[in-house]
Amino acid sequence: MADLQAIVDDIHAALLPRLGEGAVADYIPQLAKVDPKQLGLAIVTTDGDINIAGDAGTQFSIQSISKVFMLTLALGKVGEQLWNRVGREPSGSAFNSIVQLEHEHGIPRNPFINAGAIAVSDVVLSGHQPREAIGELLQFVRYVADDETISIDESVARSETSTGYRNFALANFMRAFGNLHHPVEHVLGVYFHQCAVSMNCVQLAKAGLYLAARGTNPLTGHSVVSPKRARRINALMLTCGHYDGSGDFAYRVGLPGKSGVGGGILAVAPGIASIAVWSPGLNKVGNSLLGSAALEMLAARTGWSVFDM
Ligand code: GLN
Repeated sequence: MADLQAIVDDIHAALLPRLGEGAVADYIPQLAKVDPKQLGLAIVTTDGDINIAGDAGTQFSIQSISKVFMLTLALGKVGEQLWNRVGREPSGSAFNSIVQLEHEHGIPRNPFINAGAIAVSDVVLSGHQPREAIGELLQFVRYVADDETISIDESVARSETSTGYRNFALANFMRAFGNLHHPVEHVLGVYFHQCAVSMNCVQLAKAGLYLAARGTNPLTGHSVVSPKRARRINALMLTCGHYDGSGDFAYRVGLPGKSGVGGGILAVAPGIASIAVWSPGLNKVGNSLLGSAALEMLAARTGWSVFDM
């Protein structure tokens, strides 16, 4: 295999002069405070090699990357029935868009836009109190990352709860269509807390290993999902993981990936590695600008691509 440490070091050095490009997510006050001049990279291979560069040990808010973990939990609970509540098509619109929901009768396009993720949280909430559903998610993330120290940043959850007007609108709209089964406050309580999970790049890359290794974390032996389900989650990440930038990400990087407005991206090279990058400055569609650039460079240097097997 290529010298991955040399590659991550080169990418970090090449992007250093660009630190601070893009805009932090200022619609969430707590995220607006994050220093944009940071960049972390971590690659964890399915053999257990870890290569890191830059701010790979700094905690950040995983935000929408949590949607991958919630989707995994919801599929575990209700299986294919989940697709009665949410679609599997790219949205071609912003992550927090409301327009499609009216046309499509409250069934969100996919589980990775906000509306879809809120519907997925509603599924995970079934039979639980909100606190228990949040606990289940946190336990799951700790399990897949094999790291008991991962926690939720309450200040981020509170910050989003007090300013999440669009998410309240989306949730109320879906509730009106009968596509939320629990009180809006409960569902959003779960959603805002899942978005507020804090992780660093190494923890996040480890958490994604099950997707890179046919559903089983090769380092712990923990079986998380079947190979078929891992493949399908990867397919959704490739087609929908970057909102209206999903096509461009597939074109430039060629790997399944999921972004969050905290500036993180989890990417999967099936059979090879799980990769996490983080840089808070976002591009126009809400994906990490330097994070995407770093992954594009990584894919070019390694030749990793799901389109070239
Ligand atoms: N918590 C954020 C929101 O709901 C997540 C969005 C994102 O990461 N794209 O707006």
